[in-house]
Amino acid sequence: MTNETMTDSITFENRFTRKLPADPNTDNIPRQVTGASFTRVQPTPVKNPHVIAHSREMAELLGFSEETVHSEQFARVMGGNELFPGMDPFAMNYGGHQFGQWAGQLGDGRAINLGETSSPDGQHWMLQLKGAGPTPYSRTADGRAVLRSSIREFLCSEAMFHLGIPTTRALSLVLTGDQIERDMFYDGHPKFEPGAVVCRVSPSFVRFGSFQIHVARQEIELLRQLAAFTIESDFSHLGSPSKEVYLKWFEEVCHRTADMIIHWMRVGFVHGVMNTDNMSVLGLTIDYGPYGWIDNYDQDWTPNTTDAHSRRYVFGNQPQVAQWNLAQFARSIVPLVDEVEQLQAILDEFADYYLLGFQKMMAAKLGFKNFNADSDEELLTDLFALLQAEETDMTIFFRKLAAVNLEEDPNHVDPFREAWYAEPSDDLLNRAKQWLSRYVDRAGQDVSSAHERKLRMNAVNPKYVLRNYLAQQAIDRSHEGDHSMISELLEVMRKPYDEQPQFEHYASKRPEWARNKAGCSMLSCSS
Ligand code: AMP
Ligand code: MG
Repeated sequence: MTNETMTDSITFENRFTRKLPADPNTDNIPRQVTGASFTRVQPTPVKNPHVIAHSREMAELLGFSEETVHSEQFARVMGGNELFPGMDPFAMNYGGHQFGQWAGQLGDGRAINLGETSSPDGQHWMLQLKGAGPTPYSRTADGRAVLRSSIREFLCSEAMFHLGIPTTRALSLVLTGDQIERDMFYDGHPKFEPGAVVCRVSPSFVRFGSFQIHVARQEIELLRQLAAFTIESDFSHLGSPSKEVYLKWFEEVCHRTADMIIHWMRVGFVHGVMNTDNMSVLGLTIDYGPYGWIDNYDQDWTPNTTDAHSRRYVFGNQPQVAQWNLAQFARSIVPLVDEVEQLQAILDEFADYYLLGFQKMMAAKLGFKNFNADSDEELLTDLFALLQAEETDMTIFFRKLAAVNLEEDPNHVDPFREAWYAEPSDDLLNRAKQWLSRYVDRAGQDVSSAHERKLRMNAVNPKYVLRNYLAQQAIDRSHEGDHSMISELLEVMRKPYDEQPQFEHYASKRPEWARNKAGCSMLSCSS
């Protein structure tokens, strides 16, 4: 088979590079790039690229056959050593607020977009290599990614998709054969680690920071071009760009962002580094770095050691941070609408929109058909207090709650007992009993069969999530040369709401060894 026939059916449209202003300078050295949305740049070849995992759903969607995925050419392309015909690689220019401070130009420092293709359903997909070598946006870093962070990004992108959460996707995970130096805890003890490249896939990688950089530089014409491009490409249902359409667009970005956060809160996902450069304008979960999953329910938990002190991005803060980020985004599009008041009014609706969605989601988690403000607000507040009072595994708790028999003695505390990490005090035991008996009363008001209720609850309460310790076990094994657990975890996460009794052990509580282990609870940015 020749190179051409393998990907014959895949054509690249490359709207971003065709329609937006390119950096006329293609020198691949770190620098400020003004007056341009992107810079054309080639991936830097790696030593010995091998595909160690891939997403078969994503491959199929893009039209890559299994044969192609297993070819050496595919490994070379996804490792950055070769291009498929029609690809037009580039790094995007963007800025952002990091930890609340304006950081200026950031840009694709280690991500290189290869080209944009489309699936038979008409959906456009940008293919992007993460860890493909330096770009003009790399600042002082090397443009590379290590295996551990690449496994985490690959697995979580696909796990989130299967959980039904808006996200960027992952096509492939390539081991490069190169060693990369990293100081994992920034403590002056760098080590060499295996390098890897993930091929990420998304309809668009445009971020809040993509707009912010232009307004910060007073590049208003560029800002207008990027906004018009985004609306025409990804929000065409809103109509042709105009002041009214920009306002509707902002409202939709607010809604999509709120919907995404509600999903995160539903499954116990903590992004870890919600800087405005990591906020997709499509409301997709993007940039899987120091993210984590809460095992025991804890509003105040963050996996990100870089944020351990200020605790800006802890689980319970995510809705507020999203709103703060949306405010920065709103600021960046003021020149398009010329009035702050209407943007502010839309932004002000975020809290109500979020609350309604959150309550609806929580009602579903509890198996209620609707949220009844009179009874359910207090029931929820008391539940959160209870879950936080003693370490309680969130995923296990909600899954077991679905199994509570409403007809039986409401004195049992099984859902709590199975989810508690330690023996509860008598006081807690009593509180749990009381809560459950109120819960049983309330659940009994919705007339539906026990079977129906359980099905409904199990459809929103996953049995399997990508627990931090599971990803870490896959990483440890992969470092020893056995990559099989990556694909096995992907297999489990394909059906997170199904019982899958053969995978029961992947639904277990966090083991004690993982409590304070690097990689499981302590992660840093940008590895
Ligand atoms: P992140 O914290 O991953 O969102 O990254 C923030 C910024 O740092 C982005 O502009 C990244 O492209 C850049 N960056 C992170 N890691 C690297 C790296 N190893 N080489 C070059 N740039 C990087
Ligand atoms: Mg980023």
